[in-house]
Amino acid sequence: MMPDYLICLECESPVYTFEWKDGTVKEALCDTCGNEDPEQFATEDEYEDLAMDRRWAQDPKTES
Ligand SMILES: [Zn+2]
Repeated sequence: MMPDYLICLECESPVYTFEWKDGTVKEALCDTCGNEDPEQFATEDEYEDLAMDRRWAQDPKTES
């Protein structure tokens, strides 16, 4: 399902200007910082997972 918005991983702003296809971001443009790399955007769910990963990444036992 297409999300209502994406989150720019560069500046963490919600982005409504994007193209969604086959469950992934095809194109996106952040009005705030100018980021236009589709890999640098996440859905709200993905963003929450990433935020969690970052928290756990501080554990030195975590393998990368
Ligand atoms: Zn941005």
